[in-house]
Amino acid sequence: MTAAAAAHRADPRTVAELQQANLRVTAFPETNPDYARDRPGIPVWWQSTLAERDAFLLSSVKKGEVILYGASAGGRPLRAVAYGEPREGRGTTTANGAISYGDIRAWLGPDSGKRVGLVFGAIHGGEFEGIVSTMNLLSVLETGADLAGRPQPALAAAAARLDRLVVIPVAGPDGRARIPLRMLPFNGSSNLLAEYFNTGAWADGSLIGWPANKEFIPLDFARLQFGGGYFNDAGVNCQHDDFLGRMQPETRALLDLCARERPDLALNLHTGADAANYFLGMHHPITGRNVEAAWEGLYRQVNTALTVAGLRSTTDVAVEADPTQAPPIVPNLDTAINFHTGTLSVLIESPSHSWAGRRRDGTPAPTDPLLLLDAHLVLFRAAFDYLADTGGLATWTGAAKKKAL
Ligand SMILES: [Zn+2]
Repeated sequence: MTAAAAAHRADPRTVAELQQANLRVTAFPETNPDYARDRPGIPVWWQSTLAERDAFLLSSVKKGEVILYGASAGGRPLRAVAYGEPREGRGTTTANGAISYGDIRAWLGPDSGKRVGLVFGAIHGGEFEGIVSTMNLLSVLETGADLAGRPQPALAAAAARLDRLVVIPVAGPDGRARIPLRMLPFNGSSNLLAEYFNTGAWADGSLIGWPANKEFIPLDFARLQFGGGYFNDAGVNCQHDDFLGRMQPETRALLDLCARERPDLALNLHTGADAANYFLGMHHPITGRNVEAAWEGLYRQVNTALTVAGLRSTTDVAVEADPTQAPPIVPNLDTAINFHTGTLSVLIESPSHSWAGRRRDGTPAPTDPLLLLDAHLVLFRAAFDYLADTGGLATWTGAAKKKAL
């Protein structure tokens, strides 16, 4: 353990004092200049910055409605794009009350039959794959083609089956703004660049790394050479926020948006696939038991679609789409969303465009970044079709079997 970590552990300041000190940090002393170089020849479909997000939302969103749903700790706008008609009216109780009552429709209200989806990227601002894929999803929703100019009729049709779809390219804009790159260079089998920009480095240049970065929430920016994109400007990793205490504005705004929209399904996009099985995959969230069967069905449908498309480690659907292969992870933001609004919120982990992992058999996994985009587009199509096919929370939780309200 580094001296910086040991000193951090002994810091007598309160959480609020640390956050206030972080909010006064406007620049990090010395981002390693050897790392802060963009990849040459960035493809036109790779849109990952806040400026690219804002330019697209300003000039290219015609069918969707741009929603300013809050501001980050650093004062940056939180923007979503919504399509279709929202649930009208209100239920009569809380989500938790409805679940305990045995009928989620008492929370969802008179429009409980609508299918509502939410996709959000980059609550960890250094995880660019979720930004790029949601920007391409927005392009498909607006034009029918992705940003590479390729028509995506199956995805467009799946999205059109939903009553409402809300897309957030960057849920953690402070972290994204901290990273001075559009696209990291490819760094072979080394994750050094990805870790440096994602979880940051101590003042001596040593990587903080994962999961050690989670020992310090908030992380003291004064001890760092570079603060990775994991953290908002108060130094907090919102995926592991102080959910029932004092939440960060990004988390609060996201939960409030969920309360207004009451989504059936949320996809929480991250970059952090296991190097030994380096393909887009879905974690098993800790959620209420009433959506457990729906998660298993979603897992099967998404992983079957990815396997058929050649975007998983093997071609064996029985292995790739078996939900028992994904043991539950720890409670986190997805648990909080589920607790707050009943939503089935799932954490998706993508490989990074900046380094290479392996297949299950130890052979190299593909590294073409276009395949990462393709995997996300298959994920979106399969997840939207699953929601449309199965009917969302009201049917997943057995409410339709009950008598009408
Ligand atoms: Zn992440």
